[in-house]
Amino acid sequence: MPISGPRTSQTSGPPARNWAGNTVFRARGMQRPGSVEELQHLVGSSSRVRALGSGHSFNRVADTEGDLVRLDGLPPHVDVDEAASTVTVGAGMRYGEVATVLHRSGLALANLASLPHISVAGCCATATHGSGDSEKCLAAAVTAMEVVGPDGELTLLSRRDDPRRFPGAVVALGALGIVTRLTLSVEPAFEVSQHIFTGVPLRQVAERFGEIFGCAYSVSAFTDYGSGEARVWTKRRTTERDGSVRPQGWRGETPADVAHHPIPGIPPTHCTEQLGVPGPWYERLPHFRPDFTPSNGEELQSELLLPREAAPEAIAALRSLGDRLAPVLQIGEIRTVAADDLWLSPAFRRDCVAFHFTWVKDTGAVLPVVAAVEEQLLPLGARPHWGKLTAVEPERIASLYERAADFRELVRERDPGRVFANDFVDRAFALR
Ligand SMILES: Cc1cc2nc3c(=O)[nH]c(=O)nc-3n(C[C@H](O)[C@H](O)[C@H](O)COP(=O)(O)OP(=O)(O)OC[C@H]3O[C@@H](n4cnc5c(N)ncnc54)[C@H](O)[C@@H]3O)c2cc1C
Repeated sequence: MPISGPRTSQTSGPPARNWAGNTVFRARGMQRPGSVEELQHLVGSSSRVRALGSGHSFNRVADTEGDLVRLDGLPPHVDVDEAASTVTVGAGMRYGEVATVLHRSGLALANLASLPHISVAGCCATATHGSGDSEKCLAAAVTAMEVVGPDGELTLLSRRDDPRRFPGAVVALGALGIVTRLTLSVEPAFEVSQHIFTGVPLRQVAERFGEIFGCAYSVSAFTDYGSGEARVWTKRRTTERDGSVRPQGWRGETPADVAHHPIPGIPPTHCTEQLGVPGPWYERLPHFRPDFTPSNGEELQSELLLPREAAPEAIAALRSLGDRLAPVLQIGEIRTVAADDLWLSPAFRRDCVAFHFTWVKDTGAVLPVVAAVEEQLLPLGARPHWGKLTAVEPERIASLYERAADFRELVRERDPGRVFANDFVDRAFALR
C-alpha cells in the first residue's frame, strides 16, 4: 500500500448537496484525490469514507459520517481492448465522455440511461438502466472492477476469477469500497432512429404491452396516467445485433411531426434528435443530448421495477391514482429492463417493467404520493430503484431481495471494520 503523503484537495464551503438539491450530505467533508495512490492513502487512513459519483441520486445512498470522495480529479482513462470487446474506464467518468471515445473506435455500449451526464460507477452501483425488452441494466456490462478496499489496498475483482461472488459486488451501493476503474463489455457501434407516437390510449399500452415494447430496440411510454393517454418513444436500431432488420411491428396511429420533450410544454431543445433521423447510438438512446449539461435539477424522481407480466395491472392501479398524481407529477415513464444475475439489481432473475416518476421539487407534497404509489405496486412485486426516492422503510427493502443475506456476508467479509458504512445501506441489510 502506498504511504506517500496526501496531496488530495479538500473542498471547503457549504455542505455538499446532491444534483436535485433535496439531500444535504451529512459527510464531514469532500475529498478530491488527484491520483489512485492518493485515494489509497486517503481510504487507508480513514475510519469512515465513501465514494460520491456525480451526485444524481435522490436519497442518502452515497452519504457517510466521514468524508465523501469524488473521483473526477483522477486522470480520465478509457482503454479499449478490441480483441476482448471491452473498454476499461475511470469510475468517475460520465457515460457521455466514455461514449464519444468508444464511438470513435467504432464501438458501443448496449444501452444508456436517459441522461448521459451520470458517472459510470454511480450508475453501476445502483443498477441504473435504460429501456429495452432484451437490454439489461448498465451494471450488467461490467466484467471487472478495480476497487480500493478498507485498508487502502487496490484489488481487481472480475467475473472470470470469481464468478460466484462477482454478481454480488457490482451493484453494491458503495458498500464494498471505492471503485476506481470498471471494465465494460462493448459491441460494434450501431445507429438508432427515434420515432414518437402521440395520443396512444393507455388502455392500449396495457393491453398490447408486449407488442408495443417489442416494436423497437428501446421503448419508453410517457404518461401522466390521468389523461388516459401516452406518448410512445421508439428507438429502432437500423440493424439488430445479428445484422437483421427488426420487422415493423406496432405503430401508433399518430406519428409525431415535431420533436417532443418528455414533459409536455417544455421545448425539446435539449433532447436527442427525433423524427426518424438515424444517428449514433449515444446520441439517440438517452433522451437528453450529451452537450447539454444540467447543473442542478428542478425535479425529484422515484421508480419501481416489477415483474413484466404485472404491467397491465400496475397501469390500471396507477390510472386509479390519477387524481392523487396530478398535482405533483411532472411526467411518468414506463420502460422495460431484461433480467440479470446481479444480486441487488431490481431485475435480478426477472424481466422487468419499470415505472418511473418525475415529480415536482416539493418533498413534503411528493412523499405521500410516492407512498400511495408504492402501496399499490409493492404487492405486485415492485422493488424501488436504489438511487431514487422511496417511502419504503429501509428495513423492509432487503426482504425484497433473494440474495440479501449473501450480500450482508460479502460486506462483512470485505469491510469488517465498516469503513464504507452508510446509514441507509446498514439499515437495509441489518449491518449494524
Ligand atoms: C436527471 C436524472 C436522470 C436519471 N435517469 C436515470 C435513468 O434513465 N435510469 C435509471 O435507472 N436511473 C436514472 N437516474 C438515477 C441515477 O442514474 C442513479 O441515481 C445513479 O446512481 C446516479 O449516479 P451518480 O454517479 O450520480 O451516483 P451517486 O448518486 O453519486 O451515488 C450513488 C451510489 O453510487 C456509489 N458510488 C458512486 N461512485 C462510486 C465509486 N467510484 N465506487 C463505489 N461506489 C460508488 C455511491 O457511494 C452511492 O452509493 C437519473 C437521475 C437523474 C438525476
